[in-house]
Amino acid sequence: MGRVYNFSAGPAVLPEEVLREAADEMLDYRGCGMSVMEMSHRSKPFAEIIETAEADLRELIGIPDNYRVLFLQGGASQQFAAVPMNLMKNRVADYVITGAWAKKAWKEGKIYGDARAIASSEDETFSYIPDCSDLPISDDADYLYICENNTIYGTKFHQLPNTKGKDLVSDVSSCFLSEPVDITNYGVMYGGVQKNIGPAGVVISIIREDLIRDDVLDCTPTMLKWKTQADADSLYNTPPAYGIYICGKVFKWLKAQGGLEAIQQHNIEKAAILYDFLDQSSLFSGTVRKEDRSLMNVPFVTGNPDLDAKFVTEAKAAGLESLKGHRSVGGMRASIYNAMPKAGVEKLVEFMDTFERVNG
Ligand SMILES: *Cc1c(COP(=O)(O)O)cnc(C)c1O
Repeated sequence: MGRVYNFSAGPAVLPEEVLREAADEMLDYRGCGMSVMEMSHRSKPFAEIIETAEADLRELIGIPDNYRVLFLQGGASQQFAAVPMNLMKNRVADYVITGAWAKKAWKEGKIYGDARAIASSEDETFSYIPDCSDLPISDDADYLYICENNTIYGTKFHQLPNTKGKDLVSDVSSCFLSEPVDITNYGVMYGGVQKNIGPAGVVISIIREDLIRDDVLDCTPTMLKWKTQADADSLYNTPPAYGIYICGKVFKWLKAQGGLEAIQQHNIEKAAILYDFLDQSSLFSGTVRKEDRSLMNVPFVTGNPDLDAKFVTEAKAAGLESLKGHRSVGGMRASIYNAMPKAGVEKLVEFMDTFERVNG
């Protein structure tokens, strides 16, 4: 069987070139006589893998020297705890609640201090991004927290909040490297890589140097203290070595695509194919306020749960996989990350068009 078009929200589609290269190197990584999976994380070849990965990531984003890049474990969810542990000096932080992941992070924050939800879009099932131009930011807040792209609901901050001088902490799991960013607007940017970069098991945190401190909360485990990881260049203990190796290949792939400007252009074109279809369809509709739409995750519905289920089943039979919406919202969701080819989105829209003719 050939490869399908995989619209899964995560773990998600990876570039075919990357998978082929990894397959070629599986038994013998560049004359080492072993797989990257089998080699010491203290070996020379692995040192080169992780150093090259970091250098390429720095080049792609344009990360200045006063930011550290950490390759960590535990997924994005582990950082929900690491963020307050490392940053809550005053034990106060403000959170913008734009979906399930932001809410989870906020709940985790509340374990360690006074985590305040200062804006939310839960009143309309997280279908929009609240106005963040003049938030009631706490005077003593240690940071302002957002989830920049809401994987489940399909919304994205197209403008960052006015933080009123506070450090911004952003979970970018599902929009990582999908467009150019100015990292200097952030104190901390982090994401699990399994949405847009690599295999599950790696989380990348990009942290401004002055936020990597010794005076963390007393309860902070050694492993969750960013300083531990920074001082050891992400090699305090055995890192998720194979995952980092694949991330490094994806960085190279992104560079070959022309970098983040080029991939953003590609993502805009791909998303437009789907959104334009949804906007004229008499059967399908998008569920998100237009100006807040994500380029990465596109939820849509027919309005009839039985028809939605039929769509998902028939799409799968046609080689269009994992289009079922998140269990908390129902309907459908097409995740169209960097590695989803334009042809995949075109095939999806063609299928939707036919489905509409037959069932509309
Ligand atoms: C998937 C996801 C998470 C959770 O990631 P894990 O690596 O499974 O912990 C957190 N935030 C966002 C935005 C996500 O999309």
